[in-house]
Amino acid sequence: MTSFSTLPIKPALLASVETLGYAAMTPVQTQSLPPMLDGRDVIAQAQTGSGKTAAFGLGLLQAIDVDTIRLQALVLCPTRELADQVSKAIRKLAANIPNVKLLTLCGGMPLGPQLASLTHDPHIVVGTPGRVQEHLKRGSLHGGGIKVLVLDEADRMLDMGFTEAIDDIIGRIAKHHQTLLFSATYPDEIRAVSQRVQNDPVVVTVEAPADKKPAIEQRFHEVDPAQKLDALSQVLSGHAEQALVFCNMRREVDAVAQELDRRGFSALALHGDMEQRDRDEVLVRFANHSCAVLVATDVAARGLDIVALPLVVSYDIAHDPETHTHRIGRTGRAGQAGLAITLCTPRERPKAANIEALNGTPLPWRPLKLAPPRGKTLHLAPMKTLVIDAGRQDKLRPGDILGALTGDAGLAAKDIGKIDIFATRAYVAITRALANKALEGLRAGKIKGRHFRVRPLG
Ligand code: AMP
Repeated sequence: MTSFSTLPIKPALLASVETLGYAAMTPVQTQSLPPMLDGRDVIAQAQTGSGKTAAFGLGLLQAIDVDTIRLQALVLCPTRELADQVSKAIRKLAANIPNVKLLTLCGGMPLGPQLASLTHDPHIVVGTPGRVQEHLKRGSLHGGGIKVLVLDEADRMLDMGFTEAIDDIIGRIAKHHQTLLFSATYPDEIRAVSQRVQNDPVVVTVEAPADKKPAIEQRFHEVDPAQKLDALSQVLSGHAEQALVFCNMRREVDAVAQELDRRGFSALALHGDMEQRDRDEVLVRFANHSCAVLVATDVAARGLDIVALPLVVSYDIAHDPETHTHRIGRTGRAGQAGLAITLCTPRERPKAANIEALNGTPLPWRPLKLAPPRGKTLHLAPMKTLVIDAGRQDKLRPGDILGALTGDAGLAAKDIGKIDIFATRAYVAITRALANKALEGLRAGKIKGRHFRVRPLG
């Protein structure tokens, strides 16, 4: 147990750490912060949940000088969802440093507003490689003053084909900078990138101690291709709470989600072909518990910020063992027990053999006896989402929605779930049975003294 106060960091950062309630450093922080604060390059094998964001967040906030109006820290992330999460985390850590300017720059978002907000260089940029590269190329972003470069989830960025963009970005920023590389897995490609872009890095690998390791139980079921959906329904039915289902292909994601929906599950699809707005909506609904089963591709699932998923199912076995490891790592987080189920057709057996070879232990194959479904069972999520056509641009805040719901609409606070506010829309989760009452109440009454359009999702 090492306290943050042992670190040579700004008092303002210590104050933030205290406000956030971090009593002691996580193992990744204990190992990576001292060399980072020394200015060393660091390569850390760290999973989501390890506290890696706070580690590099503190490292870069310590390095920047707020009085110098220049871009000084750049964080590259594979997806917009992750970039948003990282931005939020850094903002919290920076809460006690006045005037820190942080900008999130991601692809899939219109360029105009980004250009408008770049009239003055921010101190920190968090973004996806393609878009950051574009701004550097256009000259709307200046990399000459960058002191710290962070590559977050570097393995995923490589998987997503961002290698060239990253190399190009590095060619456009200050020669002398510190590079902090975080990756959940450690394939040869990552080693190669590290060798290319880092200078004598300190290597941090953190094995969770055996007694702290969340218990993830794995089960492998061999199923006939024609019985896959029945097998999936059956394993999902055994679990009342949430589940994440992985498919290898986008079109399968849609088909599986539709079929689950038809079978009475609150199921939604998530993949990269979807409009950003639809993806946001799906992530909101899964996080606020109005979706019980999320069917996703591996890449799309990266943005999920769900602390502990009780169940992860590979509807298709992953193409490679690393992806399999990523998938099962989504369950049993935050010390909670989790179950990872893999469905495998006889033809997919070689992929299972690869996973077995990597694990070095026999896979836990279990027979799955398919029982005929008993009538129409329902697996509805406990909440339902209402969407309000007003958001930050209308200065709408969670308190306004809460106020309208507990006031005129007559709901109890306990029946109101997560509230998410976007630029032009807001989402609120309501206990399913009371969703109609809430909808009518909001339609009849006013929010912040105004009438806004409100509709249910799903
Ligand atoms: P990450 O691995 O960056 O996704 O962080 C996982 C979670 O751990 C986040 O919700 C952080 O707020 C939290 N966290 C990070 N550092 C600490 C710490 N030292 N003590 C307790 N929680 C932490």
